[in-house]
Amino acid sequence: MQPIQFEPDLCIRCETIDCLTKCQYVSFSGVEEARSEKLKINERRHSRVLEECLTCYACQEYCPYDNNPFYLLVERQEEMGILPAPKPIIEEQLRMMAPKGKIAPQAVTGVVVDMCAFPMLTGCIRGKLFEGAAPVTGMDLFCNIMWLHFAKNSTIRERVPRIIDNIMNCCLGDAPGREMVCFHDECYGTYTSVARAYGIDVPFTPVHLFDYINGRLNVLKDRIKPLNTKIAYQRPCSNRLVPETDKVLDAIFEKIGAERVPRVYDRENALCCGGVPRAQQRDELADSLVEKNIDDMLKTGAAYCVFNCPFCMATLANEVAEQGLMPILVSDLVQIALGE
Ligand code: SF4
Ligand code: SF4
Repeated sequence: MQPIQFEPDLCIRCETIDCLTKCQYVSFSGVEEARSEKLKINERRHSRVLEECLTCYACQEYCPYDNNPFYLLVERQEEMGILPAPKPIIEEQLRMMAPKGKIAPQAVTGVVVDMCAFPMLTGCIRGKLFEGAAPVTGMDLFCNIMWLHFAKNSTIRERVPRIIDNIMNCCLGDAPGREMVCFHDECYGTYTSVARAYGIDVPFTPVHLFDYINGRLNVLKDRIKPLNTKIAYQRPCSNRLVPETDKVLDAIFEKIGAERVPRVYDRENALCCGGVPRAQQRDELADSLVEKNIDDMLKTGAAYCVFNCPFCMATLANEVAEQGLMPILVSDLVQIALGE
């Protein structure tokens, strides 16, 4: 087994310990206490952070040196048997979300769009925005990144290479280097950030949905009817693994005339939607996160609440709609601007 890519000396020399001092869910008296807890994690000693972590992924983004603090934290949780959710829940999820072994080679031409385990969203692949694109989906294509929320790095190591084989053999015609658009940025995070850190080979070229949409908007610029509206964006945990794509989203919003209103809980300060603690049976925490997010959005005067992650949308859509904001996925918002 290849260990998580991580350089202990970088942490020893680190002055700010951003990975922990910026954490929104675990508190420290100051940098020195954060340093002490971080060194415990690195040295396989018990740290309270392993118990208190919400698994929000944010420390991956906070570390200025890309030293993979969150992937390492998950590794230590699993090694020490510190589970963020009750064991029966994790075991049930492991069974439910396992590859089914039912995928067969398909003749997929044009732009392949990976819909991961969201077959109900294949209807999003429509109109000029996705002209000529072919969605692929199913449990045999599930990216498996969710195990980061359940202290199961071993499942990521076991299942992701199988899924990559399925993608190559069944969707991409076994053509190395062929592009695949990831509709969900969890998939893009898996095939870029996770794969690099865990030493998993990815023979195809993952394309982030935002890069695909941004490119299409250049082609379709004459069709854009600016929305001239305010939107509140709910940034998902998975985007912490690929923060460079957040700037591309800004470019998309600018092109379609959607003003991303400043929220307290956006960008680096984004707050978990509440879905993960709910799945971990931490209901009180989940309720408070939902409330904080909604209150924060309502202060902005936005007309839409825009989601990138279908799981965040499932968690918050009803609540935001009840408060008068229209919940919508990025691609659907872009399609409105294209008159579709
Ligand atoms: S993981 Fe990054 S931010 Fe955290 S102590 Fe190490 S180098 Fe510093
Ligand atoms: S994953 Fe989130 S909650 Fe856990 S230590 Fe990192 S920043 Fe804090």
